[in-house]
Amino acid sequence: RAHMARGLPKQKPIAGVKEVIAVASGKGGVGKSTTAVNLALGLMANDQTKTVGLLDADVYGPSVPKLMNLRGNPELTDNNLMRPLMNFGIPCMSMGFLVEDTAPIVWRGLMVMSAIEKLLRQVDWGSLDYLVIDMPPGTGDVQLSITQNIPIAGAVIVSTPQDIALIDAHRGAEMFRKVNVPVLGLVQNMSVFQCPKCNHQTHIFGSDGARELARTLGVEVLGDIPLHLNIRETSDKGQPVVVSSPDSPEAEAYRRVASAV
Ligand code: ADP
Repeated sequence: RAHMARGLPKQKPIAGVKEVIAVASGKGGVGKSTTAVNLALGLMANDQTKTVGLLDADVYGPSVPKLMNLRGNPELTDNNLMRPLMNFGIPCMSMGFLVEDTAPIVWRGLMVMSAIEKLLRQVDWGSLDYLVIDMPPGTGDVQLSITQNIPIAGAVIVSTPQDIALIDAHRGAEMFRKVNVPVLGLVQNMSVFQCPKCNHQTHIFGSDGARELARTLGVEVLGDIPLHLNIRETSDKGQPVVVSSPDSPEAEAYRRVASAV
């Protein structure tokens, strides 16, 4: 509270980036990273003239290297900035490029902040229309400090329709509002599973939870992503569904989210 009373520290835009879109969730494991990746690819698929980058700020569990099938260390530019690694036309930066795959990242508070600072300030993005940030899950210091450091055009909150995820998603949305970041809307993930054998539809985590939360928050549901084997398999292969099965209803669902943001 004392901190808030002093006002927010000055935000500084990321050089070369027009609009930052933060993809966040209250909890881990709800599909935030999968959504961030397919949203970035969906933005590009919807309008090929746009340049889109992807920043993996989930320093605790970076997923972008695997999801985007990228590994290796970024080169440094003459100005000592890190050059993002590129796949599917999307420049990407992740803590995963800077540490060993299996090395435990034992973070102390200040180390997290300096890692985030590095990812936000020491990357040569060139010129981007959109930078999609895969935020760390939750509503702690790290999330708050990102929102205070850079101007964010809007936040997309990902949740499953389950109460326990929605409560945390609600918290996430309130955090963004407190720091004056517009909440663009919710993405309801894994709302329906359709049996590939008999086509029966099951709402494993509930059906309309995110819709109700969206109503409470006065925001939109940007899209419903089904629980689908194709999404899990393509993600694990590092061939995101929007690029590997562009004609599937799953890819279409992500592109709809991209056109709604
Ligand atoms: P988070 O970033 O919230 O921790 P992830 O995006 O890493 O979540 O997703 C968690 C797991 O669920 C991953 O294995 C991912 O492939 C899978 N997954 C996410 N969304 C879907 C979906 N709609 N259908 C099937 N599997 C999904």
